[in-house]
Amino acid sequence: MSRILLLADVHANLVALEAVLFAAGPIGGIWVMGDTVGYGPDPSDVLALLRERRAVMVAGNHDLAVATGEGLDLFNPVAAAAARLHRSWLSAEERDLLASLPLTRSGDTDAPLAGLPFSLCHGSLRDPIWEYVFNSVQADATLRLATTKHCCNGHTHVPVIYREGEHAARTAPALDVPISLTGRCLVNPGSAGQPRDGDPRAAYALLDTVGMTVTFRRADYAVATAQRRIRDRGLPPFLADRLALGY
Ligand code: ZN
Repeated sequence: MSRILLLADVHANLVALEAVLFAAGPIGGIWVMGDTVGYGPDPSDVLALLRERRAVMVAGNHDLAVATGEGLDLFNPVAAAAARLHRSWLSAEERDLLASLPLTRSGDTDAPLAGLPFSLCHGSLRDPIWEYVFNSVQADATLRLATTKHCCNGHTHVPVIYREGEHAARTAPALDVPISLTGRCLVNPGSAGQPRDGDPRAAYALLDTVGMTVTFRRADYAVATAQRRIRDRGLPPFLADRLALGY
């Protein structure tokens, strides 16, 4: 199966993840570009579902903060409060799993990527945990460091595709149309669990590793259910409010 589901920033939003897995249809694999936990109501269930589906994962800043407390001092108060709660909810085994996630993966060397010409990271290859890639200069810097032709990242919660050397203004990618991976590309599928591009639907992408295309998609999900779960579990109410705004 040549269809890979690209996910990033699921952020413990089980309702959104289940909707994406349903909407994506048959897939041959799942790659997750970090921030599986943090912010949302169901970190343990999200981790369990992704492990059951044998997702290939890298670490994000929230994953490390929840696992080890690392970087918590750099978080805003709302993010830090959620990360501390997640730390207390997860088992030692779950925290160890998050702590052991690699910062980057590469199809060159990493068996789960099956020799495919992609590297995975959360922020960027210059700074896998913390850099937000918001422009083509930053995207080029990551592609120069990649040992593979293409790279996938997350962290900004905004879906985008950059082509190396193409210094155009960033525009929102078209939905539901296969986009050819010509040249060298950096692909961010956007955030499944906490979109920040003004569209509250869960963001994801489908990679066709034979045709070498990526298709950006959105899945409707029961935002109100996720919001209620957030409030019921005692997380900061802002984390529920923002889901309806897509910000
Ligand atoms: Zn995130």
